[in-house]
Amino acid sequence: MDSASRALVASYLAQVLLGAVQATIFAHFYRTSRHDYLRWWTWSFVGLCVYHACAAAALMWASFSAADLASRLILSWLSQVAFYVQVTLLLLGSLQIADARPRDAVVVRRLLFAAVVFGSAVSLAFAFAENGASERLWLRVGLRYLICGAAFMATAVLLWRQRVNSPGIGPAMVALAFSTYGLLLSFEFGLFVLQSAQQRRIDGAELLSVFDLVAQACIAFGLIIWVAEDERRRADRATRDVEHARRYDASTGLPNRVEMERLLQVDLQACAGNSLAVFAIDLVNLGQVAKSFGVHHAEAIFREASQRLLAHGGAATLRVARMDSHRLAVSVPAAEPAAEWERLALDWVTQLERPYDNVAAGVAIECTVGIAVGPGDGTDAASLLAHAEQSIHDPLQKVAFFSYERDQELRRRLAFAEESRAGLRSGQIVPFFQPIVASDGSAITGFEVLARWLHPVRGTLLPADFLGVLEDRGLMAQFDRHMLEQACRQAAGLRVPRISLNVSAYGFERDDFVADVRQALASSALPAECLCLEITESTALIDLSRTRDILLQLRALGIGISLDDFGTGYSSLAHLRELPIDTIKIDRVFVHAALDDVKTAAIVESVVTLARRLGLDIVIEGVEQRREFEYFRQLGATHFQGWLFAPAFGFADAQALTHIAAP
Ligand code: C2E
Ligand code: CA
Ligand code: CA
Repeated sequence: MDSASRALVASYLAQVLLGAVQATIFAHFYRTSRHDYLRWWTWSFVGLCVYHACAAAALMWASFSAADLASRLILSWLSQVAFYVQVTLLLLGSLQIADARPRDAVVVRRLLFAAVVFGSAVSLAFAFAENGASERLWLRVGLRYLICGAAFMATAVLLWRQRVNSPGIGPAMVALAFSTYGLLLSFEFGLFVLQSAQQRRIDGAELLSVFDLVAQACIAFGLIIWVAEDERRRADRATRDVEHARRYDASTGLPNRVEMERLLQVDLQACAGNSLAVFAIDLVNLGQVAKSFGVHHAEAIFREASQRLLAHGGAATLRVARMDSHRLAVSVPAAEPAAEWERLALDWVTQLERPYDNVAAGVAIECTVGIAVGPGDGTDAASLLAHAEQSIHDPLQKVAFFSYERDQELRRRLAFAEESRAGLRSGQIVPFFQPIVASDGSAITGFEVLARWLHPVRGTLLPADFLGVLEDRGLMAQFDRHMLEQACRQAAGLRVPRISLNVSAYGFERDDFVADVRQALASSALPAECLCLEITESTALIDLSRTRDILLQLRALGIGISLDDFGTGYSSLAHLRELPIDTIKIDRVFVHAALDDVKTAAIVESVVTLARRLGLDIVIEGVEQRREFEYFRQLGATHFQGWLFAPAFGFADAQALTHIAAP
């Protein structure tokens, strides 16, 4: 082997080594980031290794032994195919990273197939021709120089143009290296033409392979720098995206609560003590829409609502943000005259309550607005937003301004609700007993159990003071059970035929209501005949057939049933027949009105008559005057209850009571 060939082999082997290092680096990058171009470059450099290894092998083979045709063919085929595939992959990857557009897999496969076909054709053409040596050389070497020189230069131009999309020195370096390599290959092509024309080797031409090596190394390192820059840019972008997602709502693109608070704080500082109004806008029934039609419908409505706000905001400098799934916040700086704020809010309500056509059923969206005006209603963004949102809670008002009094009231209510829960748990809520008397006005036939809260600070509280908060806290069923247990236990110690206990709709609706009653009777040893349950008409009517079912079970146990507050609900007299009740209690509103109002009197009279015909007991409630007592006694009412006879007593007093002094 002569020294020129040795130099060539050495440069080929150096390029194999270099290519292997590059392929490993790109494979590593590909494993972490999965970009197509990295995969293509990996394989491209593997191809380069194969090509150079084949070239080195062919040279060595040729000098050491007379290789047979078959092995020469295989080597030549492999090197040509590897070369064209390598170039195709290198160009594909570079173009993809430059314009950041994914390449169609089918197109990529076709291009690679074309490269294989082309490489095969070039290596097999004239392979068997006796005198085809110069043609073979032209095809395998000359054509390679020509095609690759042109392709590299064209790619260099494309990459140079695309630099706008991927700035940094990596792309510029690659473009430069591509163009240099392209020029080098063109030069080598010229040299090749010259050598074939003169049919001799020009001295020193093999030195060009050193330049090849340098150019390829430049391409490879340029690519590595490019990848590193690209990765850093992507990381930066991802960080920015995450930061954006933390502060903006993805669905509407509006600032979220966190960002709104920050922006408002800046606005407040810029206002320098001038007023700034914050509006919290609630799309009241959007949650319902989400439940019935699906979240995507609710989201579509929310998006349209926010667009309407932005489009018809009315104020010059509006800031709109999304607070949660159904709430928007808007801030308007001092430029708007204060008197305009309410009008502005009402305008928005009109805009937002206009029909939305993306929901099939055309649900009418309801909207309310709470307004807080800084600095009076809050000097920092968080409290202004919170106060605007708190003002929404007035269900009757479309637009409500924040007020410290109402805020205090809300806080008091919240604290009281907490207290009532504790009071219920610690047994401060106890049964009182109001006598129900027979028509002689003196014999006690029973007691109605009425709850009293023996509050350590406020004294004795009536149900009207605490039932509302218990209801708000969802504690009514628990309260009913507490009263049931207490009343049954204490009633066992009272000398009266029976007690009447009020049951709320919450208690009555519970599935294990009947079981609870049974349990309370069993543990107190109170005979079922001594217990009467009072349910109101409205409770009874929630689900008439279920009511009848439960009442029948209770009756079967021997428990009495009273229909309370008769006349205030919507029940028709027909219900009296349908439900298994034994007593009706005529509400005191009717009792008072009956004496002065002819129509009420007519109704009450017919109810009493009917009840007597049906064999029901009648309790006249809230009797305060003797003439009321007389009137109803004459009508035929069987039982009476009211302050005329006795108020509600604590257990000890009720126990001591044997009869009432007749009025
Ligand atoms: P209700 O069942 O209609 O009870 C009758 C109410 O009329 C009681 O009010 C009683 O104190 C009051 N009252 C009695 N005589 C007179 C009178 O001559 N004049 C006037 N103006 N009022 C009279 P109270 O104790 O304040 O209870 C109010 C309501 O709270 C009750 O109305 C009942 O619906 C509910 N409630 C009371 N205790 C309980 C209970 O333990 N459980 C349940 N679920 N509800 C209860
Ligand atoms: Ca009652
Ligand atoms: Ca009543």
